[in-house]
Amino acid sequence: MSLTQQSAVEQSRLLASGEVSSRELTQAYLDNIASRDSEVGAFLRVDPDAALTQADAADAKRKEGETSPLLGLPVAVKDILCERDQLTTCASRMLAEFRPPYDSTVVAKLRAAGAVLLGRTNMDEFAMGGSTEHSAMQLTRNPWDTTRSPGGSSGGAAAAVAADMAPLSIGTDTGGSIRQPAGLCGVVGLKPTYGRVSRFGLIAFASSLDQVGPLARIVPDAALLFQAIAGHDVHDSTSLNESLPNDLLDSLSQPLKGLRLGYVEEHLGEGVDAEVRSAVETAMTQYESLGATMVKLELPHSKYAVATYYVIAPCEASSNLARYDGVHYGHRSSVAEVEQELASERAAGATAIDSTLVRMYRNSRTEAFGAEVKRRIMLGTYALSAGYYDAYYLKALKVRRLIRQDYDKAFEQVDLLVGPVTAAPAMKLGSLDDDPLAMYLVDLFTVGANLAGIPALSLPCGFTESGLPIGLQLQGPPLAEPSLLRAGTMYQNATDWHTRRALGKTTP
Ligand code: GLN
Repeated sequence: MSLTQQSAVEQSRLLASGEVSSRELTQAYLDNIASRDSEVGAFLRVDPDAALTQADAADAKRKEGETSPLLGLPVAVKDILCERDQLTTCASRMLAEFRPPYDSTVVAKLRAAGAVLLGRTNMDEFAMGGSTEHSAMQLTRNPWDTTRSPGGSSGGAAAAVAADMAPLSIGTDTGGSIRQPAGLCGVVGLKPTYGRVSRFGLIAFASSLDQVGPLARIVPDAALLFQAIAGHDVHDSTSLNESLPNDLLDSLSQPLKGLRLGYVEEHLGEGVDAEVRSAVETAMTQYESLGATMVKLELPHSKYAVATYYVIAPCEASSNLARYDGVHYGHRSSVAEVEQELASERAAGATAIDSTLVRMYRNSRTEAFGAEVKRRIMLGTYALSAGYYDAYYLKALKVRRLIRQDYDKAFEQVDLLVGPVTAAPAMKLGSLDDDPLAMYLVDLFTVGANLAGIPALSLPCGFTESGLPIGLQLQGPPLAEPSLLRAGTMYQNATDWHTRRALGKTTP
């Protein structure tokens, strides 16, 4: 097995024992990126020299006796987390030239742990989407079938791990953006409990739903990265003051005894692809053979989750994105052109025309936001406006509470919930271009966890006949990441889906 096919946990051991240096490891990934990323398009930016400089620094620290588990391990970061003085674009023309003057807490924690920041990964613009096709920068392809989408919005992060171009990556999940691309690319993704990971320096989409989390090849790798980024942060008042067990990683090898897994029958019914259903059902049987009991239960309000999410998320987005006016932040339309435009309107006899300032705001936003972002801003602004607020936003908040209560009730009966991540495997690129509603429905099984603030894990549980990965989702009560990760490890120890490789033709 080549170095880049090893798990991050194993690479961490090789680094610790001195069998491998961070420079060698980082170079191996840079080589994979150089040979594969022209086909996949996972990375927006990679700076090999900067990565190798960090690798050398990690090797030097190791010599001085430092032992952090992430020391010298390469990590790819979704282009939504601020990195000091480095472009942080959110895959938007609006932020095409934005260089934050500070590090997000997640990036700062990665630096402090000695990780090598390998590069920045592609995403849907402002994380709005489920296919990475809304990126204003480039297309990302699914490494298992390059005519298909990797999912989104953390599509670059998932594709980078799936194609062995990074052992670990950071994504964000507002309605499924870690779990869905992980599922569609055959890798592991964890959306932590709301507040587990600091959002300081995370460019906001929908602040009450956004969470940062890890993507990796195997569950213990995800746990390794999760442990490094989790924790309370004085810069984020919504971050939780809860710590993870120090022995999290060691505890993963102990199977959960008497595990009670709940499932919802409709989530395996109509509308779910037959191959997805059968892979998830097989995974449930495997859990039973590992000693788990299956409990059928109901989440009566889950059928309203997508509708609720697509009111709340756009409302929060419309208010978060108000700051991009070309003055406070973001792309500024040329004032000279604005003045020319206004002069010609005046000359043509127009009376009620904008001031230069208002037209400059308008043009800046018109030019720099993509169609999907504009759609969300319009939806959100509408739902928040006087007269509609009660009918849409307030009602959505009430349904959100009911969804949370459904989960609370479910977790009185079971430890975790099991089901599919998405109803279908990866879609063809371009296939949902003209159908935003169909694209929103892809989020059916993932948005519930965000609305309720609970943690959820996605892991590979099979492949379709045509070779596309299928994802299994486990959801747990707040702060149940240790159990989720243990249950995921239990499954991976008994199965070998996670050992399959994308780009088999090119992987030695
Ligand atoms: N697909 C969902 C959306 O478009 C979720 C995105 C996300 O989690 N960032 O809003």
